[in-house]
Amino acid sequence: MRIYRAKFVVPVDSTPIENGAIAVHGGLIDSICAWHKVTRVADVEVIDFGDAAIVPGFVNAHTHLELTNLARKVPPTPDFPHWILRLAKLIAVEANAQEQVEVAVREGVRQSLAVGVTTIGDIARRPQWSRAALSQTSIRAVSYGEVIAVGAIRNRLDVAVADAMNREWQSERVRVGLSPHSPYTVEQHGLRECARRANAANAALDGQTNPLFSPLGKGGEMIRPPGEIREIVDDSPDRTSPNKSIPLCVHLAETLDEERFTLQGDGPIADLLKSLGVWDEHIPMPRLRPVELARHCGLLTPRTLLAHANYVNDDDIQLIVRSGASVAYCPRTHHAFGHAPHRFREMIAAGMNVCLGTDSLASNPSLSVLDELRFLRERHPDVLIEMVLAMGTLNGAKALGFEDECGSLMVGKSADLVVLPLERPASSWDEMFHSNVQPVAVFAGGRRVEASDINIVTPFIPPCKGGRLCTNTRVEFIS
Ligand SMILES: [Zn+2]
Repeated sequence: MRIYRAKFVVPVDSTPIENGAIAVHGGLIDSICAWHKVTRVADVEVIDFGDAAIVPGFVNAHTHLELTNLARKVPPTPDFPHWILRLAKLIAVEANAQEQVEVAVREGVRQSLAVGVTTIGDIARRPQWSRAALSQTSIRAVSYGEVIAVGAIRNRLDVAVADAMNREWQSERVRVGLSPHSPYTVEQHGLRECARRANAANAALDGQTNPLFSPLGKGGEMIRPPGEIREIVDDSPDRTSPNKSIPLCVHLAETLDEERFTLQGDGPIADLLKSLGVWDEHIPMPRLRPVELARHCGLLTPRTLLAHANYVNDDDIQLIVRSGASVAYCPRTHHAFGHAPHRFREMIAAGMNVCLGTDSLASNPSLSVLDELRFLRERHPDVLIEMVLAMGTLNGAKALGFEDECGSLMVGKSADLVVLPLERPASSWDEMFHSNVQPVAVFAGGRRVEASDINIVTPFIPPCKGGRLCTNTRVEFIS
């Protein structure tokens, strides 16, 4: 067991603790309390980070790590369809081969972990290559396999969906999701088919019993005492994970051009499809707003993440809230494209789960959720700081279906921790939002991440950087 101590421990789902301590055992949070409630005994390492805040690992709910190599190559412009066209051309050359994809994903993970992002919702154009790369790293992910099937390439639907839902690389840590890209790159039939297949997979798996994780064998006999199940889970290969439900993600209501296209079937998005060479006269015109269309096609579910939702009216918000779907707001990307103000506050007030994403490095200078939080804090100082932090942590975990594993500092959850230094003497944990300091330590599953390496360095190497190691101290939590 190890104890991490800091001036502030910020659990997110409970009150921040001044002079707090977190005990980590077996990669999980074992205890969390004020330091004065810890009784010293013997032989436990205590790492004191001093004037710092320990917060949960950040969750970047919407990104495209495959595009990491395209950083700064297609600066965002107000003409979104034109930007997509330039991006598509660049992807065909620079982000299309297996090695390009794998290098980009690994580099994206390295950059993410370095800034404290321990969980991501990642869109994968090349799901198997992306997931293979993700699986070699320490990050936790939902890898949403992307489907594009419209007009001249509508017959790609079946192959693309099968590829996206391929569970070859499914594990407890890297989960498979499905992403029909948008209402203008997947036709109504395709959107409905994606929803149907994901929901069918969910329904089938909801009722499925995996004998490995059940105390009862096929004949009803007890094959393993319940007490042993934990050990079996820990030792089993990742691919036997019981969590195989298929979450959905769709770029929705991102631009007014998209809305015009789904309502009228024309405008800059139609021109984009023509420029891409996929337009044909059989592309259906739904005559629905994007959110209405998503609902009509069965895409709005509690396991759905809507990327952006930049242009939604009151009715749209109510539809999303009633469905239980989440929204990933990408503040700096949103700003870079010059969109109208995002309605995240009204969404949250209406009861929606709103989380944060960076989108790709093609439209954002970094993959840092902390940078998004600081950006948001600066522009919306009136928004409760606890709410802002939750958007970058727990809300993202909920949106991705990882809320039982991460997103807050709670006993039993994974020890995904970010240590942020504060001004000395630190008077409040929210000072972390008012500086540009980067994490001095990041832990994923209890193990320290080395910024120079995508992989975790096995358990703690004392003396640690940015923390004072006090050995030969055994402590016991009395509460
Ligand atoms: Zn995106």
